[in-house]
Amino acid sequence: MTAKRVVIIGAGFGGLSLGIRLQAAGFDTTIVEALDKPGGRAYVREQDGFVFDMGPTVLTVPHFIEELFALERGGDGGLDAPDFPSHVLPPPDAEDAVRIREGVSGGPATSKYVTIRPILPFYRIYFDDGTYFDYDGDPESTRRQIEAIEPADLEGYERFHRDARAIFERGFLELGYTYFGDPWTMLKVVPDLFKLDAVRSLFGFTSRYFKSDKLRQVFSFETLLVGGNPLRVPAIYAMIHFVEKTWGIHFAMGGTGALVQAFARKFEELGGTLRCNASVDRILVNDQRAARGVRLADGETLEADLVVSNADYATTYTKLVDREHRRWNPDWKVRAMRYSMSLVVIYFGFRKTEGENLDLQHHNIILGPRYEGLLTDIFDRKVLADDFSQYLHVPTLTDPSLAPEGHHACYTLIPVPHKGAGIDWEEVGPRFVDKVLTMLDEEGYIPGLRERIATMSYITPDYFEGSLQSWLGNAFGVEPRLEHSAFFRPHNRSEDITDLYLVGASAQPGAGTPSVMMSAKMTARAIVADHGVQSVADGKTDEVAAK
Ligand SMILES: Cc1cc2nc3c(=O)[nH]c(=O)nc-3n(C[C@H](O)[C@H](O)[C@H](O)COP(=O)(O)OP(=O)(O)OC[C@H]3O[C@@H](n4cnc5c(N)ncnc54)[C@H](O)[C@@H]3O)c2cc1C
Repeated sequence: MTAKRVVIIGAGFGGLSLGIRLQAAGFDTTIVEALDKPGGRAYVREQDGFVFDMGPTVLTVPHFIEELFALERGGDGGLDAPDFPSHVLPPPDAEDAVRIREGVSGGPATSKYVTIRPILPFYRIYFDDGTYFDYDGDPESTRRQIEAIEPADLEGYERFHRDARAIFERGFLELGYTYFGDPWTMLKVVPDLFKLDAVRSLFGFTSRYFKSDKLRQVFSFETLLVGGNPLRVPAIYAMIHFVEKTWGIHFAMGGTGALVQAFARKFEELGGTLRCNASVDRILVNDQRAARGVRLADGETLEADLVVSNADYATTYTKLVDREHRRWNPDWKVRAMRYSMSLVVIYFGFRKTEGENLDLQHHNIILGPRYEGLLTDIFDRKVLADDFSQYLHVPTLTDPSLAPEGHHACYTLIPVPHKGAGIDWEEVGPRFVDKVLTMLDEEGYIPGLRERIATMSYITPDYFEGSLQSWLGNAFGVEPRLEHSAFFRPHNRSEDITDLYLVGASAQPGAGTPSVMMSAKMTARAIVADHGVQSVADGKTDEVAAK
């Protein structure tokens, strides 16, 4: 019997991770990607000798990456193994900071493909008054810095730490891989979420422990890196603090793009086919309402036994599936959902000066004068405010090979409203970018930047909408809010069409590279439950009965 054929639409982290698992599980997988190379949000821009990762830069949970590189064809795609085997869990009283510093990056399988290094501190968080907090997961250094800001918050930090750990253990280690395909699965966990106080907003949650505005920001900003408004995202996301503390923050040498290339290589080594410059314009659905392939923009059709979309949720249903097939995901529902904010990201390289010791870290969060007000402007009022906060990435502090000799390569990312705001970015963009670069220069983050700049380009919400086919130019998919969580988040197994599945940031469990790799495993499990593992023996492939 021949293996079942799968077409995956999109070669983002989600499509590639799923492709690797399905190939390992014996399927015959083709990934079709609209852009000229894989990566999606993690696309790489090469410009004037500089290499810029366009998207994700903070890698967490390195064993998710190791799991993928360790897969071989002929197994079950790693789907039956424990999700958090004991060797990846720290002993109860482990000193996380020491483990991380000593390097728990990746593992033997990963190191055959890419080198991953721990980064410390995780982030430097600059406040508007010029002071900063170096956040590194080391409890002693954290306590010292809290004491310097607000001694009365030391006791709150101990409680926060205890309660965030409880959320991490239940919400991530025990429930992280739960697929909420029906309301009953969700109802079963609701009492626990209330008990952990994980349903209030993350900012409300941190405010219970910290009086200082600065510390409330330090312990709530991380969700912005996965498209969540700290004022709205449920406190279950306090787990991010613990995920980072437990496994550290890592960087792929050569940039995240090196990891993308390694994933693509692994997929092809397992026998998968990756086709770039192949945009899908229709998912083909037969009379029994089953997905049976895709049609590309140039009219070519690819037949398949099942189809997976790694594209944006709203784009998948409204643009790729005929309306007549969409009982559960009609236009009104897609439009009624809330989508994450968008971003302006400026990629720039600049000359080092003689003996310069740049006073920045690899990851810098530069907060503006307002926090709650600015978040409300971006997510709710949808206006472009005069002030802004940013995440400044300086990867050449870790890997100088990303810039020509004597230069740094950076990007700075500024959350802005998505295209529902109606802002004309062609008109506003240049002024906005100039304002950001001037601020970095004049406020001394990169003194003399404007004279030293060697290359610069930027993207706005138009890029997310146009190049990444993202609804309203959202940067992170469906917004993570309580009402878009678990069962209420788009389902990885389509309720409308048999043999159609979703993977990636818009599906369960959510955005961010670790979640998207989890999403791939959850979708692979759904596929294997429906279609069985395709066993590969003596060069022949047989379908083993579905579980
Ligand atoms: C600027 C930025 C910084 C980020 N930083 C971090 C970070 O530091 N750490 C972190 O964990 N996360 C970060 N994230 C989030 C993370 O990058 C994403 O959640 C994740 O990469 C999404 O992966 P995905 O596979 O779901 O989607 P995508 O990467 O968007 O992949 C989807 C793919 O589908 C393709 N596609 C769409 N439509 C079609 C079609 N019709 N036909 C064919 N192909 C199609 C697209 O071209 C794209 O390649 C960041 C995101 C951004 C934008």
